[in-house]
Amino acid sequence: MQDSFDVIVVGSGAGGAPIAHRLVQAGHNVLVVDKGPLLRPHYEVPGERSDFRRDEIYASSTEKILHVPGLANTGVSYYSSHVEPDINDEPHVYKGPDGRDYGTIEGYTAQVVGGGTQLYGAVSLRFTPTDLRLKSFNDNRRKPIAHDPNGDIRREARDWPIDYRALEPYYVMAEEMVGINGTRENQQKPFSAVKYQKPLAPNPISSYAHDGMVELGKRLGPGIAPYRTPLAVITEDHPWSGRQIPRNAKGEPDPEAGKTSYVNRYGDPLGLKSSTWVALLSPIKDKPNFAIWPNCVVTHVVSEGAKVTGVRLLDPGGVERFVKAEIVVVACSAIESVRLLKLSAMADAEFDRRINRNPLLGRYFLTHCFGGARALMPKRFDKSKALDADWATDCCATEEFLEENGLWAGAAIYNNTSDQALPLSLFRTYGSQDLDTLWNGFMGATDMRGDRFIDFLDAEFGRGLSISFMANQVPQFDNRIELHPQIEDKWGRPVAYVIKGWHEHDRYLMDVMAKQCGDVLRYGGDPVGHDYQIEGQGSIYMAENALARMANHILGGARFGSDPNDSVLDPQCRVWEFDNLYVTDGAFMPTSGGANPTLTIQANSFRVADHLLTRI
Ligand SMILES: Cc1cc2nc3c(=O)[nH]c(=O)nc-3n(C[C@H](O)[C@H](O)[C@H](O)COP(=O)(O)OP(=O)(O)OC[C@H]3O[C@@H](n4cnc5c(N)ncnc54)[C@H](O)[C@@H]3O)c2cc1C
Repeated sequence: MQDSFDVIVVGSGAGGAPIAHRLVQAGHNVLVVDKGPLLRPHYEVPGERSDFRRDEIYASSTEKILHVPGLANTGVSYYSSHVEPDINDEPHVYKGPDGRDYGTIEGYTAQVVGGGTQLYGAVSLRFTPTDLRLKSFNDNRRKPIAHDPNGDIRREARDWPIDYRALEPYYVMAEEMVGINGTRENQQKPFSAVKYQKPLAPNPISSYAHDGMVELGKRLGPGIAPYRTPLAVITEDHPWSGRQIPRNAKGEPDPEAGKTSYVNRYGDPLGLKSSTWVALLSPIKDKPNFAIWPNCVVTHVVSEGAKVTGVRLLDPGGVERFVKAEIVVVACSAIESVRLLKLSAMADAEFDRRINRNPLLGRYFLTHCFGGARALMPKRFDKSKALDADWATDCCATEEFLEENGLWAGAAIYNNTSDQALPLSLFRTYGSQDLDTLWNGFMGATDMRGDRFIDFLDAEFGRGLSISFMANQVPQFDNRIELHPQIEDKWGRPVAYVIKGWHEHDRYLMDVMAKQCGDVLRYGGDPVGHDYQIEGQGSIYMAENALARMANHILGGARFGSDPNDSVLDPQCRVWEFDNLYVTDGAFMPTSGGANPTLTIQANSFRVADHLLTRI
């Protein structure tokens, strides 16, 4: 194993892989280190069997018991998929509403080469220009902000140090190089170029969502219509990564043949879902200037004064090694990146002094405000023929809508087509909790057997249609990632301690947005005589375990900015007090954006890659 590189990238997901790809293509010597295994699609495996399995039980793994001592939920059962970490090894701990500490899988995206992009639903929306300037927007608005009695929003909101125009070319780059299908028309964001692949035909169940979104747009005023949700799944051959879509018997490309609901929550054995492994890392895997080390956990970033010199890691055999680099990029997903920096500070007083020059590391941790509404359709649909979200609308993201409703920030609304498309996912998400349990859910419904169980299947399977929103969460200093004072991982290091709550305005915003989602369903069928049953609308703050839930969107904690006293990272995502240490996962975000974050993490990572190319 080589022990010196130009650049080490820690984490191979959305924040790490774009940088590795660009720097390797430019001839630099790059190492990517990831804790998780390398699981490959079928075409990369001799004998054509993928390391991923199209087996629901395998994807949900077997039942486990939480046995970490000292937690309020020690002894409960849980299921994690085979690409998530075992939380007995390294739990995330959160402070519950009763002040006690609970172990949770929340806040882990995935532990596998490709990170969360192996499991994600692939919804790849851009943020709006307003999302990047929420301080300016709220400072200059005409109508007051509702439900913010102490003026927290104006005090705590920050504009990003780059505007939409600076990020836009990198959205284009990500859309092309990652491989995303979708449509441009009706999106309320400027585009300099459109690189989307052609979307597949929507699942018929989504026509209700489409019609409801059209009607909602009209009723809100300007008539903003829906568009096909950009999804990171290729529907045409993708020259950038060399991936091809399935051929029919005549050898012709057949995009629909790859249509499957094994997208959200599943690793894709076909390699059509554009994980960062298949899209960005696999294409460079044979280059002599690239190395990828799976199953290696980075334990510390090592520094001498203002320069980091490399990382310490445990190799797959558990042996500790030091690897040198000119530049270190940390992209472990926000919680684990903050933790790695804090653990590095624990081991070195000078690192500590520099990284904690202000009290901001770990602060302003963000997820998203999320929720929606759900209905049961009058008939069953074959949802196994779906990607994920077919339709999206920006009609609740305009500044006019925000002014009118006293909101500080907007949201994207989209439908979840593949929700519960497979039998096990129906059980997995029924009564779902932060431990992603099958049977804990049923413990609250012990009558779920016999006829009740048959009736449940009959009523639900292939019939649920949900409309979701994804919205900015108000940044709060007290929402933070710390190191837990007692609980340690299997290597004896403090685990991440997540302390967070919802702001009063978050609750209000979620109520407003959930109502819009409910309206999509109300207007989507027969708007007068509703030919289907609307089950309800709600948001995450109402859930029993609301303090744990994160929508798998792990953001903030090391925000970037123009003022070293008010941010952890500079505008290029370099840690202010180190010459050559960068953080490029979702931690850099000062506000969480009104849409799913991964495309923006990837675009920003391409942007930082261009900056790095100017300095090495
Ligand atoms: C089920 C699910 C559905 C989702 N759906 C969507 C969606 O539709 N749209 C969307 O935008 N987002 C979605 N997300 C979120 C998306 O996965 C994340 O936003 C994205 O992956 C975050 O990128 P990242 O670079 O911050 O972290 P990741 O992509 O998770 O990468 C972090 C990597 O770092 C590695 N790592 C961590 N610590 C260490 C260490 N100490 N040493 C070495 N390696 C380490 C991890 O193993 C991991 O591979 C979803 C996530 C999940 C789990």
